Amino acid sequence: DVLLNSTFLDIITRLSPKSQNKNITVTTNFPKEYYVKTDNYLLSIIVGNLISNALKYTPKNGTVSINMSTENGKTVCKIKDNGIGIKKEELDKIFEQFYRSDASVHPEIKGTGLGLSIVKKLCLLLSIQIEISSTINEGTEVVLIFP
Ligand code: ATP
Ligand code: MG
Repeated sequence: DVLLNSTFLDIITRLSPKSQNKNITVTTNFPKEYYVKTDNYLLSIIVGNLISNALKYTPKNGTVSINMSTENGKTVCKIKDNGIGIKKEELDKIFEQFYRSDASVHPEIKGTGLGLSIVKKLCLLLSIQIEISSTINEGTEVVLIFP
């Protein structure tokens, strides 16, 4: 079994140069140890992409909060940022390959638009349910529900 707490903490540590550069506070709320049957390497790719996105699309001095809980008997992880957000009409497109929202609005933020398309496929492989909700100029929350 994979201890999610360690997987997430490893990635947070690996990405700490990015958060420190922008003075983004990363908070974690892991009230207990969460074990899941999954592939730690593929899960790391998923979580790495999601936390990278949260850091990338959150301006200086922002906050990224990561929570774990058990809901209806399932392990749930939530990655929430208070960044630029995603327009409602774009929410269903961001999982497409090469899709990037309105690059003209934030030309300084670079990317290929592949991250979330890979995340979606890996979640399918590992039977992890993924949900995104977002409000423009307020922030984004990604929820992972483990089988
Ligand atoms: P990369 O391939 O380097 O990850 P990317 O970050 O642009 O490039 P995705 O991770 O697939 O690509 O994300 C697709 C688009 O969804 C982004 O370009 C961005 O517009 C939007 N997006 C993703 N995560 C967030 C977030 N946390 N806040 C705001 N917008 C986001
Ligand atoms: Mg990305």
